[in-house]
Amino acid sequence: MAEPKVPAGGPRVYLSGLLPDEIQEAVSFPQRFRAVQVYDWIVRGAGEFAAMANLPAAERERLAALFGRLRSSSVSSELADEDGSLKLQIRLRDGAAVECVLLEDIEGRKTACLSSQVGCPMGCAFCRTGQLGFLRNLGPDEILEQYYFLKERRGFISNVVFMGMGEPMLNLQAVRKSIALLSDPAGIGMSLRKITISTSGIVPGILDLAEHGPRIRLAVSLTTAEEGMRTELMPVNKTWGLDALKAALVEYQEKTGERVTLEAVLTGNRNAGLDSARALVKWVRPLKAQVNLIPWNAVPGLPFETPTPAQVRAFTEVLEKAGLTAVQRMHRGRGVMGACGQLGDTLRAAAPENPED
Ligand code: SAH
Ligand code: SF4
Repeated sequence: MAEPKVPAGGPRVYLSGLLPDEIQEAVSFPQRFRAVQVYDWIVRGAGEFAAMANLPAAERERLAALFGRLRSSSVSSELADEDGSLKLQIRLRDGAAVECVLLEDIEGRKTACLSSQVGCPMGCAFCRTGQLGFLRNLGPDEILEQYYFLKERRGFISNVVFMGMGEPMLNLQAVRKSIALLSDPAGIGMSLRKITISTSGIVPGILDLAEHGPRIRLAVSLTTAEEGMRTELMPVNKTWGLDALKAALVEYQEKTGERVTLEAVLTGNRNAGLDSARALVKWVRPLKAQVNLIPWNAVPGLPFETPTPAQVRAFTEVLEKAGLTAVQRMHRGRGVMGACGQLGDTLRAAAPENPED
């Protein structure tokens, strides 16, 4: 992937993706504690250098001269759903756009659903993002800023899921860095148990995570355990088929001792039948896994159907009778096209009001 385009003469580094030592390296403050102060401001949600009140004015000016802006991206539109979800479109430094969503459950727990790429190269047939194609990977700064923008609007966020636009395993370096930032005890301090990576089934990524961590929660978009159907719905299955995926998950569980979550988007006219449910039971058996069933969220123009509640119930019963834990999930945000698989109005944001941007 080519380097992200940056404005001519503009900065390549933005401080929202850096730890204190890296801030110090980028800025060379005469005293290192200034880098910690800057980091603390960022963690507390400061949006600009001018807000960093305990920094001498000269240092604030130097930061502005060095980096231009504190954040690399900005919010270009906001949509609030009646169910409490909030979808933001984020304009990136090169004019590309991603979306992120804040989902609130009935207990009031807030989960940030973050994007890891602009678009997605995986091309899953049922997913809106997959239909848009792929522009580029996000940097850790751009990932963290999604979190800060959501927190600024909705307050404390307890969980983060990499289930927005993109395939996080294809941008593992930046995703790892953003997890290091989210979980830094001296910073945001989120427990790794509250962070989930969802993958379409990139086997080398699963094995890399098993070997090198971090020990976040892993979710895998299985969708269906029928080989031909999976290949039709998820082209990734041509590269890593169901056997290779299962072997990787067995290895993941042996190395980590962790349960994985398997996600299955159910489309009424493809994989929501009882045969599909039985195939899923058989495939899952050797794994310690919970299955999340996601009734397909409608994407205009795609030839799928949202399953009826009766179809989903019958599917769930087959799983439960076989002793599997099946949970129905992920319709929140539908009102703003912010539910699973509905992200991606566009990969390019509207031109900014400020032409220097
Ligand atoms: N790329 C990663 C993470 C983002 S997608 C992945 O595929 O796992 C997050 C989840 O949304 C995946 O489980 C995916 O299968 C599901 N999904 C995609 N399109 C959907 C749709 N239209 N309705 C419901 N779920 C969908
Ligand atoms: Fe990409 Fe996930 Fe959508 Fe597939 S479901 S196209 S991997 S974002």
